[in-house]
Amino acid sequence: MSRIKIIMYHYVRDLPNSRYPKIKGMNIVDFKKQLGILINAYKIISMDELIAAINGEIQLSENSAMLTFDDGYIDNYTNVLPILEENDCTGSFFIPGKTFTEHKLLDVNKIHYILACADKKDILSDLFEKLNFYRGQEYAIQENDELYDQYAVPSRLDDAETIFIKRILQNALPEKLRNKIASELFEKYVGVDEEKMAYELYMTEDQVLSMKRRGMYIGLHGYDHYWLEKLSEDEMKKDIDQAINVMSPFMEKDKLVFNYPYGSYNERVLKYITEKGILLGLTTKRGIADIAKDPLLELPRIDCVDVAME
Ligand SMILES: [Zn+2]
Repeated sequence: MSRIKIIMYHYVRDLPNSRYPKIKGMNIVDFKKQLGILINAYKIISMDELIAAINGEIQLSENSAMLTFDDGYIDNYTNVLPILEENDCTGSFFIPGKTFTEHKLLDVNKIHYILACADKKDILSDLFEKLNFYRGQEYAIQENDELYDQYAVPSRLDDAETIFIKRILQNALPEKLRNKIASELFEKYVGVDEEKMAYELYMTEDQVLSMKRRGMYIGLHGYDHYWLEKLSEDEMKKDIDQAINVMSPFMEKDKLVFNYPYGSYNERVLKYITEKGILLGLTTKRGIADIAKDPLLELPRIDCVDVAME
C-alpha cells in the first residue's frame, strides 16, 4: 500500500473556557474523540515510519494515517502531547523558527487574535481607513475597491470579508506596512503585550526539545512563517536557511521534512529545498497522500475538520 492520510491540526485547546473562545481550533474533548476514532480505523504511524516506507524498508499498512501539528503552539505541548502518549501515538510538529528564538508573534497569529476579538465589520472599516491614510505616503497602494475585488475571494472555511482581512495583512501589502497595520489593529482590539502573548502562545526551546526526546518528530515550517512564493529569491532562501539553522538541533539530516506555511510554495522553493536535502514536503492541498504517485515534496493533507468526510 502507498496511501496515507496525513491529518493537519493547529490549535488544540479548551476553547469555551479560554480567554479567546472565538479562535478557530479544535476542542480538547473533540481531539480525544477524533483520535479514538482514528486509532480504531487506522494504523497511526510516525514520520520515521513514513520515511522508512518511502525508502522501501517497510510496507505501509492498508489504512495508514499520520498526525501533523503546525505552528509550534504551546497547547500542542500541554494538551496534545499527554493525549498522544496516553494512546501510544506519535505526532509530527512543525515549528516556525521565530516563535521560540525571538518570542515575537507571527502575523498569522496576530490576525487570528484580531479576528477573534473584534467584529469583522469594524476591522474592515479600520482597514480601509488605514489604507487611505498610508496610501501615497511612502507606499503605493491600490484603491480600496480594487483591492477588495482582487482579494475578497471566499474559501471553503472563510467568508469574503474574513479572507480579505487575512490576505491584506498576510501578503497583499508591503511587509513593513502590513506589519505596522497588523500591530495597530492588534493593539486596538486585543490590547495585550505582544511578547507576553508570544510566551503564552508558543512552545519554548526546552519544550520543543522535550517533545523530541519523548519520541515526537520535529520539522520545518519556515522561520518567519512567510508565504514563500511571494518572497524574492533572496528572501525565500534566507528564510529557509534561517529555519534550517535554528531547527537543526531537533532534526536529523537525512529526515528533513518541510511543511510550507500557508501551503505556499513554487518551483523556486522546491528547487531550493531539494538543494538543502529536504526529503518530504507537506502542503495544504486537500487529499490522501500516495507516496508511490505524488511528488514527495508536494504531499497533500486532510484538515482535522474534514477527517470524517474523507
Ligand atoms: Zn502555519
